Amino acid sequence: MIPFLDLKAQYNTIRAEVNLAIQGVLDSCQFTLGSEVEAFEQEFAAYCGASHGVGVNTGTSALHLALLAAGVGPGDEVITVPFTFVATVAAIRYTGATPVFVDIDPHSFTLDPAALEAAITPRTKAILPVHLYGHPADMDPILAIARRHGLVVIEDAAQAHGAEYKGRRVGSLGDLGCFSFYPGKNLGACGEGGMVVTDHPHYTKTLRMLRDWGAERKYHHTLLGYNFRMEGLQGAVLRVKLRYLEDWTEARRDAAVHYNQLFQGSGVQTPEAMPWARHVYHIYAVRSPDRARWQASLEAQGIQTGIHYPFPIHLLPAHADLGYTAGAFPHAERAALEVLSLPIYPELTAAQREAVVAAAVPLTVA
Ligand SMILES: *Cc1c(COP(=O)(O)O)cnc(C)c1O
Repeated sequence: MIPFLDLKAQYNTIRAEVNLAIQGVLDSCQFTLGSEVEAFEQEFAAYCGASHGVGVNTGTSALHLALLAAGVGPGDEVITVPFTFVATVAAIRYTGATPVFVDIDPHSFTLDPAALEAAITPRTKAILPVHLYGHPADMDPILAIARRHGLVVIEDAAQAHGAEYKGRRVGSLGDLGCFSFYPGKNLGACGEGGMVVTDHPHYTKTLRMLRDWGAERKYHHTLLGYNFRMEGLQGAVLRVKLRYLEDWTEARRDAAVHYNQLFQGSGVQTPEAMPWARHVYHIYAVRSPDRARWQASLEAQGIQTGIHYPFPIHLLPAHADLGYTAGAFPHAERAALEVLSLPIYPELTAAQREAVVAAAVPLTVA
């Protein structure tokens, strides 16, 4: 059996350190925010090449608060992609703003800058590119268009810790960068977590207030805030794991290179990385027009796979009221029908990768 994800394998490699970090929080009783969260904010922001980090309870909250801090609200439009995890779009809707979709580039699965300008209207306030699967979006043209129109750029980097665009880490490329520390992400908490990183002190101050009931100081509530604080236990665990992130990322990248080599000449459509990208392979997705058969056959051979994601957001019932219909975003729609995620994580062995490829290659013959 080859699981899609193996969190126990990772925990076993760092068990003593994680346990010690957790014991430290139990001893200090700093259960919400506190010194471990503060230290993690500084360390993770520095890792991203950003000046400030604001720890929150989930990646979804990071997106929600980044949008609010940027002044997004009812009547505004935010441009994003329909091929993403639903949280990207839900966060826009929580603010009362309207998501406006542009199609993806079919090679990188990220926002197609060539489709961006046509989606801008006088109501557009922000652009929210998603670094899907750990591959950075093509940020230079996105940022150039944003500057020309006076728009805020918020990165959804929930799948892309440590990914680089032209040598710079994602999260620090736009005005605000949002991360998730959901356990299955490349940097995962022992529970939920998220962070917004930014260079702007003004956003930082607003974000710190919004995550903790909108108070300037205790009981002086000047904004409608939320209870979105990061837990002390998560901050402590994430500090330990951050020290391993680069090694884990290199292991993911090596695994992807190995998969690509094993698949070479087989006819299996493997993921592409643009020349300017340091892809961090949160997901390694192959494509097949015959995906259902592939998935069933791999499952029967003991290989777990995933689909990220089977429906583009504009065709989900929850967002039908936005008024989009099938055919609106052909690349997103086709990707949703064809992508199949194979197991990829730092602890996945070469023998396991060989077994996955040995099971998948014969499927190319119908
Ligand atoms: C995981 C994820 C989120 C949401 O993060 P949570 O921590 O689960 O709330 C947002 N966007 C993308 C692209 C994600 O993969």
